[in-house]
Amino acid sequence: MAQQSKHAAIFHQSKNESLGGRVKLSDHTFKDPTLFEILFLGTSASAPSVKRGLSAQIVMHDEYRFLVDCGEGTQRQILQSGIGFRNLTRILLTHGHLDHILGLGGLMSTFLRWESVDELDIFGGRSTLDRVHDLLYGVVLRGNQPPMPLRMNEIKPGTFFEADDFTVSAFSVSHRGPDCLGYIFEGKARRPFLNEKATELGVPFGPERRDLVAGKEIFLSDGKRITPDDVLGPLQKGVKLVIVGDAGKTENLVDVCKDADALVIESTYLDEEAEMAGQFSHLTARQAAELAIKAGVKKLILTHISRRYREKDVIKEAQALFPNTVVARDFDSFQIKREE
Ligand SMILES: [Zn+2]
Ligand SMILES: [Zn+2]
Repeated sequence: MAQQSKHAAIFHQSKNESLGGRVKLSDHTFKDPTLFEILFLGTSASAPSVKRGLSAQIVMHDEYRFLVDCGEGTQRQILQSGIGFRNLTRILLTHGHLDHILGLGGLMSTFLRWESVDELDIFGGRSTLDRVHDLLYGVVLRGNQPPMPLRMNEIKPGTFFEADDFTVSAFSVSHRGPDCLGYIFEGKARRPFLNEKATELGVPFGPERRDLVAGKEIFLSDGKRITPDDVLGPLQKGVKLVIVGDAGKTENLVDVCKDADALVIESTYLDEEAEMAGQFSHLTARQAAELAIKAGVKKLILTHISRRYREKDVIKEAQALFPNTVVARDFDSFQIKREE
């Protein structure tokens, strides 16, 4: 049932492999495969505050876990959140500024001695990976081997990861320094399985339903022929979650954010200090809200919050333009579903 990727160059893992060859029927027929969950581990800009750690968030879908950025202190936030290290084998980096990568040093140190994962893939732009390489190999490992197969995957804008029912793509972001990236998590378009319709037609619970989902026709015991068209609804777009790291402008982000069900983006400044925001290549809450409107996103989640402001002032500025805005706090988690 798992479709093999047509893109050999894309990192791909089929559900079959991950389940050791077993296919769980429920994965495709009964669960909603178009749902991501995002857990915020750190939401502070530049330096931590009493209440906020540095940038890190985990995107989850089924057994997949993607840690996006890994600011200092991330491993403790992982422990405190209760999510643990299991399956945390992929780290995506938006850029190489220290408030987004320093946690990798501590994480690797812990992996050397205690917790471990089977393998680790770090994804990012070239200059980001260069700095991470210095941190891990120059400071933490210093001639020792990493405690697991460690791969540094340089990525460029485009799709770089594909699973059975979703893809992850990167896009360019303008911020201080080269190779800054944002990420799109997108469910593949699919035709939902109409359980009630199938039951009405007498399709038993079992491999027959799996075959229909896989596009094969089946014959019931009385000889009646059932085709996929009989039990599959119209094609539906998958859920779309966009994560922009630090950014200095939004004009080049409208297209990639188009119709996202949720947009996670920095909001380091308020409009009253828009000039300083521009100087340091960061965004104001107002700019983030304006982008949400232009791109037609459904929900705006602000993060990378500066200690210089009160949270309620950030919310107020964004909500005045875009009401469906929240400011993420450490350990907040959101389910991202397809919004009509
Ligand atoms: Zn930052
Ligand atoms: Zn930055």
